Amino acid sequence: MTATLNGRTPRPGAPLADVPRAAVYCRISDDRRGLGLGVDRQRQDCHDLARRHGWEVVGTYVDNDVSAYSGKPRPQYAQLMGAVQGGQVDVVLAWDPDRLHRSPAELETFIAAVERAGVDVVTVQAGEWDLSTANGRLTARLLGSIARHESEHKSERVRRALEQNAAAGRPHGRRAYGWQRQHTPGGAVREVVVPEEAAIVQRIAGDLLAGESLRSVTAALNADGVPSPTGRPWGKNMVRALVLRERNAGLRVHHGEVIGEGAWEAILDRGRWEQLRAVLSDPGRRTSTGTAAAHLLSGIARCGVCGATLRAAQNRGVPSYRCSADGCVIRRKTDLDRLIVGLVTARLARPDAVRLFAADDSDERSAALVETEQLRARLDHAADQYAEGVIDGRQLERITAKLRPMLAAAERRAQVVDPAPLLDGLAGTEGVAEVWEALPLSRRRAVVGTLMEITVNRTRQGARTFDPRAVTIAWKGSGA
Ligand SMILES: [Zn+2]
Repeated sequence: MTATLNGRTPRPGAPLADVPRAAVYCRISDDRRGLGLGVDRQRQDCHDLARRHGWEVVGTYVDNDVSAYSGKPRPQYAQLMGAVQGGQVDVVLAWDPDRLHRSPAELETFIAAVERAGVDVVTVQAGEWDLSTANGRLTARLLGSIARHESEHKSERVRRALEQNAAAGRPHGRRAYGWQRQHTPGGAVREVVVPEEAAIVQRIAGDLLAGESLRSVTAALNADGVPSPTGRPWGKNMVRALVLRERNAGLRVHHGEVIGEGAWEAILDRGRWEQLRAVLSDPGRRTSTGTAAAHLLSGIARCGVCGATLRAAQNRGVPSYRCSADGCVIRRKTDLDRLIVGLVTARLARPDAVRLFAADDSDERSAALVETEQLRARLDHAADQYAEGVIDGRQLERITAKLRPMLAAAERRAQVVDPAPLLDGLAGTEGVAEVWEALPLSRRRAVVGTLMEITVNRTRQGARTFDPRAVTIAWKGSGA
């Protein structure tokens, strides 16, 4: 005979159930396996495993843990643990151990509860660790891994305190550059912005978003004698790491994962910080951060025959741009540079330049940011509905399949760099040509790339005579 979880309790004095009662636990998380597929697979595999062992599945518990922050409560997990403690379960089944616990602290609580109740734990992924045939083996291994973990992390009490702090968004460790600790009258500690240091972070962010290279930003900090966080001279990696910190945008990170909003004031606007991440991870930018590109249009202008980018090349000793694929087209560098600089500066000198280039794109970007938030919320909601049994796995899968590409597209649009800071001090100003000459090459390249698409067409005249009509310019955005 078998007891079930659905309201029936074992009769007092009844013999132990001869068919072990299994509880299946699934957790939907936004992991690599994808939302719907992940959970259907978990559930199916667990039920199959129970059938092979001849266990009766007396309860299936599903939590939606899609939300970006892993501190989200798990009501179904709590119910499962209630059933374990109430002696209603003989075996807990999960797809793999990381479905059951999300942190060492949770694992520890889990092991204690399971040991007290004498319940076996079996996971699909860790098949060899079947507790029903080798009782205590898994527990011993898990306990061993905790011991290792502890020796790495000073002591359990310190670690727990850190995790509680992390969950509450409280600071720990050394003070972070940009903030200092202050004791509130109530005895709590909070972090307040140090304006001079915040200004440095904002300056770095502004310069990078304006198209300057990490190299030139770093050089300028050292040239200006700005003190670095370590007291040593600024380096490119230091600048990069400093400006990309999640905490700049007010986000709290623990074990490498964003787990919530910090209890401190942000130094950078979230949208700007996301842009910085996009800019600094843009492969097209690597050339200007590593070995500085020495040519205005290499990698930017395209071949009108095959579409490849043009690269700097020597043509009988004359510096030129040539199609990087087949050499279909070639132009003297001075001719092409002069044409493009003339067009860009003339365009930027027009009083309407700011409005034409800046407004539309940043509107579109904020719209895309809003859209990503909405799509994430819809995915989260669908996962909730699945966990509550309102929709089935197939429906969740369909919703997920539909929303995922939309989310990816919106995320890409949201990462488009706002051209406003790039054109700041250039667009609509008098003497653009002079300002232009004084800009670092990396920023001039970024401006050209933002404003126009350049196509160099084949011409009959050869490289010697330059025909501007054989160069097609397509202005980007609403800048035509
Ligand atoms: Zn070509």
